[in-house]
Amino acid sequence: MQLNSFMMDIIASELEDAVGRENCSTREIDKLTHSVDYFWLSRMWADRGERMPEADIIVAPKDAKETSAVLKIANYYKIPVTTWGGGGGTQGGAIPVVGGILLDTKRMNKIYDVNTRGMYIECGTGAIYKHIEWAANEKGYATMHYPSSLTCSTVGGFLAHRGIGVSSTKYGKIDDMTLQMEVVLPNGDIIETSPAPKHAAGPDLNQIFIGSEGTLGVMTKAQMRIYEQPEERRFRGFLFHNMTDAFNAGRELLQKFKPSVMRLYDEAETSTLIKKIVGVEKKGAFMNVAYEGPAALVEVEHKILMDIFNKYGAEDLGSEYGEKWWDEKITFFYPGNMMDLPQCFGTMDTIAPYDKIEKIYWEMKKAIETNFPQARFIAHFSHWYEWGCMIYDRFIVDGDKVPKDPHEALRLHQAIWNCGVRTALANGGVVNDHHGVGIKLGRLMKEQYGPAMQVFEGIKKQLDPNGIMNPFKLGL
Ligand SMILES: Cc1cc2nc3c(=O)[nH]c(=O)nc-3n(C[C@H](O)[C@H](O)[C@H](O)COP(=O)(O)OP(=O)(O)OC[C@H]3O[C@@H](n4cnc5c(N)ncnc54)[C@H](O)[C@@H]3O)c2cc1C
Repeated sequence: MQLNSFMMDIIASELEDAVGRENCSTREIDKLTHSVDYFWLSRMWADRGERMPEADIIVAPKDAKETSAVLKIANYYKIPVTTWGGGGGTQGGAIPVVGGILLDTKRMNKIYDVNTRGMYIECGTGAIYKHIEWAANEKGYATMHYPSSLTCSTVGGFLAHRGIGVSSTKYGKIDDMTLQMEVVLPNGDIIETSPAPKHAAGPDLNQIFIGSEGTLGVMTKAQMRIYEQPEERRFRGFLFHNMTDAFNAGRELLQKFKPSVMRLYDEAETSTLIKKIVGVEKKGAFMNVAYEGPAALVEVEHKILMDIFNKYGAEDLGSEYGEKWWDEKITFFYPGNMMDLPQCFGTMDTIAPYDKIEKIYWEMKKAIETNFPQARFIAHFSHWYEWGCMIYDRFIVDGDKVPKDPHEALRLHQAIWNCGVRTALANGGVVNDHHGVGIKLGRLMKEQYGPAMQVFEGIKKQLDPNGIMNPFKLGL
């Protein structure tokens, strides 16, 4: 948004009055660092010497009251507001694509209460998730939310994208871990959702804001569940020689009990990442299963697991590889292991029920590798539910095959995404499981929802009639 310098000064002075001058910045370096998140396009654009769209001013309120003051000013002047947590999102959600105010939540990082009776932590949404995990650990508990970006992303960011961690199969996604939230609406009103979820007092307000990617307001405080540390956490690695058997075994296991971790790697990932990081040398599809809780229950679960996996011909690799996987779970994202520039890449992150998921995997692989011979397709299946699972499906184009011109590189990236996601949609999948939509997938939301999109648009129009909150994200 282009503001003339007179109006910019007027608005900046009002924002400084609201949050303190030291908590507002118009410095070039701050604008630059808040213009690139973990979205490949933004990183490529900057890497090629181009400048991403930047905010006019960055403000960091300390609580809901200050956030409310900022949103009231923004609403009055009709200035866009983009909320920024850790900037670790992969969908361009936190990028201020039309300028305006960038609202950085990181001063809202206070831990108010570790409540071991109510089994929750109350904290500001700007807290890095690892910090609330430490707070829980100090009292002998755990959050059980272990995404690979635990140390760089915030509570608010995970809520905004409906994030997930490696132990999701037992403990659920972030929405299953949320009790109550404080939210500042676009008009500046501060609201609280109900003190307990799963009620019958109308639709659950938490679920309106979770996954809304900063388009409906700013979440400022949250009560996140904590859990007892398990008496025992046991691991078992397996090798499948046939993906269909692996899906059948996983599906059947989920009808009996919920392991915490369940990860199936296709042959391409087993022979590369799993070989390098976990040390599995054999050919096949590696699957790691962790099950945890009271020791007596773990023993029973072990027997059920072995019986089912044996039936589907899984080769038992013992506990060693699974334990190594757990220790190295974040190493997968370290430089050298993670895809990185100058490669062109994307994680498509598709979710579907069991009757569709395997077909989606093969169809996406075929569509991408046929239409884009310069691309490789690799996948693992990270999060399993009783009814289906998600594909962490990735395409990679090596640097020497990526156009040097950033405009052409952008078009290639968009085209591969269109191909992959449209193939998933055509076969009954959903656009995304846990990375969110952002600017990256906004155009595909209407294709996903059709006329149902008007429900989201209606809520948006009602809560944010001036359209100031995170424009163009989530397809809104
Ligand atoms: C190496 C790596 C590994 C990753 N692994 C995982 C993983 O295992 N699981 C997973 O779920 N994700 C993962 N991600 C993705 C990323 O960590 C998540 O999308 C996370 O939710 C982003 O949080 P953030 O604080 O960094 O948010 P940002 O990138 O700052 O913002 C993301 C979106 O949330 C909105 N937002 C942020 N805070 C608020 C708030 N308080 N109120 C309203 N809207 C808000 C922003 O406007 C934006 O739309 C990974 C990312 C990387 C780089």
